[in-house]
Amino acid sequence: MGSIESKKLHDFPFDFYKSTAPLQIYNAVIFLIREGLHNVGLYRRICHCYDKIPFGELTTEFQNEMATLKSDKEKATFLGLPEEMYPLSKCVTDENLKKLGENAKIDQWEKAYTALGLPLSCPAALILEYPMTVYYMLTKYVFPKGVPTNEPIEVHLPGAEKECDLVFLFEVLLAFLPAGVDLTIRMVGPSVSPNLKDDQRLYKFEDKDRKSKLTIHLVTGHYEKQHYSGEVFASEKDGNVNKPPSAVFMLNPALLAHETWVPTIQFLMEAKAKIVITDVMEPNIELLRVNMMRIGFKMTEPHQVNPFRGPLHRWTPDCNFPGFSNGFICVLH
Ligand SMILES: [Zn+2]
Repeated sequence: MGSIESKKLHDFPFDFYKSTAPLQIYNAVIFLIREGLHNVGLYRRICHCYDKIPFGELTTEFQNEMATLKSDKEKATFLGLPEEMYPLSKCVTDENLKKLGENAKIDQWEKAYTALGLPLSCPAALILEYPMTVYYMLTKYVFPKGVPTNEPIEVHLPGAEKECDLVFLFEVLLAFLPAGVDLTIRMVGPSVSPNLKDDQRLYKFEDKDRKSKLTIHLVTGHYEKQHYSGEVFASEKDGNVNKPPSAVFMLNPALLAHETWVPTIQFLMEAKAKIVITDVMEPNIELLRVNMMRIGFKMTEPHQVNPFRGPLHRWTPDCNFPGFSNGFICVLH
């Protein structure tokens, strides 16, 4: 249990997660029921009730339903979000940012909640961990000097699963990223539903006032060279096509459990891609380090605890290590 204390893994600011009483994954359903969020909107992927529905199909359902809803309040309630977060592209206000001080970096949950004006009792972090982890990776590892606003930027998420059903939540990125950003995220994976039609794969969000754009593309299939090069996206009418992405993010990919990752990592390393990976458990990152050396590459930077890891503790009895969704981050490049 050493790393729990030394790395302050239970150190979350939330009312529902105390280091003395962590919110355990086996209690997630009870917690969601108590919060009135079990099987509600964007929270549906937290438990196993919707496991039979392929990834991306819940987003299709949200899209259909959202088109019938008129007010922000109705939309927020339908997605299970607090009303003050809607519209999502404007959920970070200047007034809230002022509370953080000038040029404050949003690099931990408490600051993100202040920026959002949310009370620390709000369970939104259980789903916000995905877009906030992407935000953190972009600002810390890919564009540490500032996210560019003078050119379109693109990131790829190979092996995407749950995040495909959080598409509507990713709109918060428009509020956290600088005005004028034009970001495309391609979520590519064999588990992305093959049943999605073209218009159920491409989602566009825009904040006209800040001139910011976000495009999310759901793609079914194993991530291959033609995805990385942009070749397969070249037929699209718009977007940043036929050019490699700024970075490749793999969220909770459990790389060591799947041998299919080897050729993917290999071609990405050879292409000198910037790859940022998260893992639920720290020892998996150590194993990845060893395996990378076996195929002739090394991890150049030490891994770190993700400040935006999901606040649901997973304790795996057979290995006795603490785990969190997107718990630890390492960079390969
Ligand atoms: Zn359930």
